[in-house]
Amino acid sequence: MPSFVSVAVPVPLLPALTYALPPGAVAPVGSRVLVPVGARLLTGCVLDVRDALDEADGPRADQVKPVAEVIDETPLLTPELVALARWVADYYLCGVGDAISVAMPPFSWIESEPAYRATGGVPGVDADGVRAAVLRALEDGAVVRRSALLPRVAAAAGVPPEDVRRALRALLRDGRVDAVRELQGRAFGFKTTRAAAATPAGLDAVEDGTLTDRQRAALRWLAGEPRGATLVDLEHDGVSRAVVGGLVKRGLVTLVDWRVERDPFEGAAALQDEGREAAKARVALTGEQADALATLGEMAGAGAFGVALLHGVTGSGKTEVYRRLAQQVCAAGRRVLMLVPEIALTPAVAATLRHTFGDRVAIQHSALSEGERHDQWHRIRRGEVDVVVGTRSAVFAPVGRLGLVIVDEEHDTSYKQEDAPRYHGRDVAIVRAQRAGALVVLGSATPALESFQNAQRGRYRLVAMRRRVADRPLAAVTLVNMRDEFADGGPDVVISRALHEGIAARLSRGEQAVVLLNRRGFAASIFCRACGASLDCPNCSVSLTYHRRAHRARCHYCDHAADVPRACPACGGEMLEYQGVGTERVEADLVERFPGVRVARVDRDTVRRRGEVTRVLDRFARRELDVLVGTQMIAKGHDFPAVTLVGVISADVGLGLADFRAGERTFQLLTQVAGRAGRGEVAGEAIVQTLCPEHYSIRLATTQDYDAFFAREMLVRNAMRYPPADALVNVVVRDADLPAALTAARRIAAEVRRRGEGRGVRVVGPAPAPLSRLRGESRAQFFAKGSDRHALRAAVRDAVAAFPALRRQVTVDVDPLSVL
Ligand code: ADP
Ligand code: ZN
Repeated sequence: MPSFVSVAVPVPLLPALTYALPPGAVAPVGSRVLVPVGARLLTGCVLDVRDALDEADGPRADQVKPVAEVIDETPLLTPELVALARWVADYYLCGVGDAISVAMPPFSWIESEPAYRATGGVPGVDADGVRAAVLRALEDGAVVRRSALLPRVAAAAGVPPEDVRRALRALLRDGRVDAVRELQGRAFGFKTTRAAAATPAGLDAVEDGTLTDRQRAALRWLAGEPRGATLVDLEHDGVSRAVVGGLVKRGLVTLVDWRVERDPFEGAAALQDEGREAAKARVALTGEQADALATLGEMAGAGAFGVALLHGVTGSGKTEVYRRLAQQVCAAGRRVLMLVPEIALTPAVAATLRHTFGDRVAIQHSALSEGERHDQWHRIRRGEVDVVVGTRSAVFAPVGRLGLVIVDEEHDTSYKQEDAPRYHGRDVAIVRAQRAGALVVLGSATPALESFQNAQRGRYRLVAMRRRVADRPLAAVTLVNMRDEFADGGPDVVISRALHEGIAARLSRGEQAVVLLNRRGFAASIFCRACGASLDCPNCSVSLTYHRRAHRARCHYCDHAADVPRACPACGGEMLEYQGVGTERVEADLVERFPGVRVARVDRDTVRRRGEVTRVLDRFARRELDVLVGTQMIAKGHDFPAVTLVGVISADVGLGLADFRAGERTFQLLTQVAGRAGRGEVAGEAIVQTLCPEHYSIRLATTQDYDAFFAREMLVRNAMRYPPADALVNVVVRDADLPAALTAARRIAAEVRRRGEGRGVRVVGPAPAPLSRLRGESRAQFFAKGSDRHALRAAVRDAVAAFPALRRQVTVDVDPLSVL
């Protein structure tokens, strides 16, 4: 008779905890239980069931606390997913509860908490004091959650919660009280969000002297948003609800309820049509597509684990290969998981699969409401779904009989989670497929160096598609040296002559253009011409970015926002200057240069309005817009056939970062964005503006020569022993000031060195992190490197564990993507 369970609770950094099962209780692996943790009762997930304690459990059996309640008699998480989450915790050095949390559907923690309801009648003479107090708390049909009920009754009756729990159990047994759970079948109405819009009177009142500055600023803001803006967005830009309320009272602003889009397909009609067209056309595969499909189909048919890297240039038709392969796998009775970087940005892929597989497709991504994700998760869990398309966390979707995992744009940084658990969706996908005996297809035009190296070494099967469909040429890329432009046109030039002419030509021909600048806002910094001081974030070691429309100076790291001062805070001088260009400035410049141009911007500022990206991309697809300006978001896998020109404003924006992946990111970004041009009948062109045309990342992106880039970049990685030459762990230690952070980091680093000695583990640092202050904390950093991953992780894990008092200040990132 198993009598002990290890349980993962969603508390950061906590290891698995051991509890005793009450006699007769059954709690299989993957089921949820309520367990006492300190003074709280938490939902946990059973990791393991055992007959006896062992040494690792520490306390003796009589000290192990009992499970308070078993929530699921049958597992919620499959044993396969429990094992995967345990692997994640072990590999990424995080708490097992952190890892289990990402695998759990929404509402599993909180909503699973039982609530109680009296079955009728009022407290009778038969109820003792505590029971009567429980019943009183449930008077008038009240439904009260356990976490609220226990303390409330305990306080009212003046007894410890233990007594309340006992009374509750007695009442449940006697049928005086019912436990209700709101786990499934919850009805979710349309979600709405409050928005404000200026009235005509409000538009006239922008200069009204009787208004406060803040009210005028709010009206100006709204004047630029004819449809209005949500209160959340307004608040984000410093317009408080009180200010909006004041304007509503004066009739200058009205409030409306916007429906929040929950269906990624809703509002994306044109993109969906495109998906339908692509699916319906039953196009004859190109020779390369057919070869790729044959190879991949054979691998999938083997029914064993394998990894293929589908290295296909932009526009080579990878989506169609995925689609047909998925069909084959489903026809053979197995299921498919497809990961994409961001569904809102690549709706055509999802739409294509949706069209092929109908409602046997489930979509999982962060823009869905919790309710929708919950419902989708349970559909998948019940086996009603053959194909799951989702972003990073969908790698934990409860798909059974997994036969194929596709990771589209496998190089994309959004696969890496930057909070605990710091997992990489692609790498977890590979581990999952290995255990399921499934095929993994990693697709990209610009594979991560790690993936390409694995392919070169024969660990992955390399499947190449070197030509675009219909023999369309890749975009011809021209470099513009901005030094020449500045010399001729002054330092304020944003758009070069070549790009200006290129755009003008597209506009006159009714074609479309995409303009990339990987920096949002209007100006990168604000500085004083008199004293040279720049406006910096009070919490982070970066300068504030100027956002013109919101008229705010914002930190892109901590979201601190301030009004833009009229005078320099340091010297009082009034010669404040804006330096460095952002997307908002590019948009303004285009409107000024090309009157009447229909331009829209896509970056994190515009995305904050829910559904906005989808709306903009949809309008662009319908050719209601001429130019799309944006950050790397517009570089992702979009397929807009009428785009014949791609402009890049500052190709070197990312090269200055103190990050060993800067060159790789730049090459990928430029290659990907150039890949947006010329996907239709008319050939495409890219014009890339840069201050360093000689840099190999930029030079090789112009020829889109991945192989040459790989060879060149690997020279650097090998020389510096950076991934993929060596495995890397980034350890960041935070403290109130930098000396304290450095001291703590030195102690841990020394311990890593000591434990890694003789096992090939090397430590670089500690040193101040490139972002030496972030969100009000100072940061010191060191790297641990080594070729033996196991030894490397063990050394870091044990070293960090040796300083429990520092644990909350330490961030451990295994296989980091960003080391700022
Ligand atoms: P990638 O993801 O490789 O950049 P896509 O999958 O987006 O490329 O395909 C590019 C375009 O080519 C899409 O519009 C797609 O519908 C179209 N396409 C794909 N395969 C074929 C084919 N065999 N014949 C004609 N057009 C195709
Ligand atoms: Zn900041």
